[in-house]
Amino acid sequence: MRGLGKRFGELAALSDVNLEVRRGEIVVLLGLSGSGKSTLLRHVDGLEQPSSGEISVLGRDLAQLTGRELRRLRSRIGFVFQQFELVGSLSVLENVLTGALAALRGPRLGLISYPRELKRAALGHLDRVGLLNAAYQRADTLSGGQQQRVAIARALMQNPEVLLADEPVASLDPESSEQVMTLIREIALDQGLTVLCSLHQVDLALGWGDRIVGLRHGEVVLDTPTDGLSKAQVMEIY
Ligand code: ADP
Ligand code: MG
Repeated sequence: MRGLGKRFGELAALSDVNLEVRRGEIVVLLGLSGSGKSTLLRHVDGLEQPSSGEISVLGRDLAQLTGRELRRLRSRIGFVFQQFELVGSLSVLENVLTGALAALRGPRLGLISYPRELKRAALGHLDRVGLLNAAYQRADTLSGGQQQRVAIARALMQNPEVLLADEPVASLDPESSEQVMTLIREIALDQGLTVLCSLHQVDLALGWGDRIVGLRHGEVVLDTPTDGLSKAQVMEIY
């Protein structure tokens, strides 16, 4: 991002953001509610258009892409949300399979039958997140932490190169939060994913990423390796 700015009417949600994330880096976006974390992540996924400045993702300048090119680029980016966004009435396995929908050709509406190799991949991802035995349960029977692990498995169906996570543990209890954060990190390291994960809890952020980027009122006020960083140093961004 170079000089990235985003206005919503009078409000500057992001101002002059300059940020370069290297492949394979695990970066935490830290900031209070309203600091611009979601807006920044949405720009990376091409869901918002900047009011000023530039953004390139995986080597492509987003402003230069056609709709089709943008869709292709987005298929290389997984996104995990605070509220999981599963379909509660579908099975866990079906939810994971929806992660492959964008890549499937065929009718956009109506019943979809998934190729067998996709089912095998989905079960593999469920195994990876420790939920193979829940594959045929309804998604809404799972705990929050389990649902977020399903959402991670769903994101993996895209074989993403980049994983965006927007406060993935904000609605989880401390123990499930730890589990989910550890899982994201392990998977990222296994698969060489580039991760941008927003958080508002300093304690979770400190032990976790390679680097912390702090946002305040839409401005980057901290950008530093996590190693050796103290809580007091981070608290200064608030
Ligand atoms: P965070 O994720 O850190 O809580 P957001 O990126 O959601 O912050 O929001 C940053 C600021 O932009 C907030 O003041 C929010 O109200 C505002 N904002 C975000 N999206 C919109 C929108 N679509 N329309 C108007 N204001 C928005
Ligand atoms: Mg947000």
